[in-house]
Amino acid sequence: MYCNICGSREDNFSIFMIKMCKNCFHEFANISIMDEDYDRYKNLIRILLSYYITPKAILYPAN
Ligand SMILES: [Zn+2]
Repeated sequence: MYCNICGSREDNFSIFMIKMCKNCFHEFANISIMDEDYDRYKNLIRILLSYYITPKAILYPAN
């Protein structure tokens, strides 16, 4: 399986519904708001949250 961020096949693991390699996880855990890659990670967080939230929305639909 490939890392969903950098496409590497090295040392990947799943976090929520995506695959992430150790390098990307380390960057992700230590990313700074001032970093130029922050927007990329911010989008990733948005994707993660949508995966995380969607099943609950299906289980408990708002009327
Ligand atoms: Zn990666």
